[in-house]
Amino acid sequence: MVVIAIDLERCTGCGTCLEACPTGALYLVEGKAMVDGALCRECEACLVACPSGAITLTEREEPVAEATRLPALRPEPAAIRVKTQPALVPFRSRALPVVGAALAWAGREILPSLAEYLLDRLDRRTTQLQARNKALNREAPASGAQGSGRRYRRRRRGGGRS
Ligand code: SF4
Ligand code: SF4
Repeated sequence: MVVIAIDLERCTGCGTCLEACPTGALYLVEGKAMVDGALCRECEACLVACPSGAITLTEREEPVAEATRLPALRPEPAAIRVKTQPALVPFRSRALPVVGAALAWAGREILPSLAEYLLDRLDRRTTQLQARNKALNREAPASGAQGSGRRYRRRRRGGGRS
């Protein structure tokens, strides 16, 4: 029984055979084509498509053919996702939702309390100033009358000298 063998020296990793294969038996590992023996139907489509002539038919017993048919060489798709996903996602994309949530929380929980506190302080200060103004206004006419009284008494004692 013949099987597909790939000459890794000749393979350029162009991926043409992957597109030609109807069963998805071919895959690339570090830029070299590999065949999954469990999926290969020996249709020879990849052999025809390969521009480098790297794919040949060979007997199953040959060691080269056996080496290329090892399914264990094929990386598990799930394992690839787990290993590569965190590295591929930029830090900014991961941090953005956290920062957004923190800002939303601050806007919801902290800003209203802060605004209320500042308005309270402003109200208290305004009340204090109004009370002080009222007190000053009450004192002003009284002190004005006292001053003119003193001046009148001084004028009388001086006998109209000034
Ligand atoms: S012989 Fe056919 S099934 Fe096998 S790897 Fe090539 S294209 Fe795919
Ligand atoms: S088509 Fe040929 S050269 Fe290109 S990846 Fe497949 S085996 Fe390698």
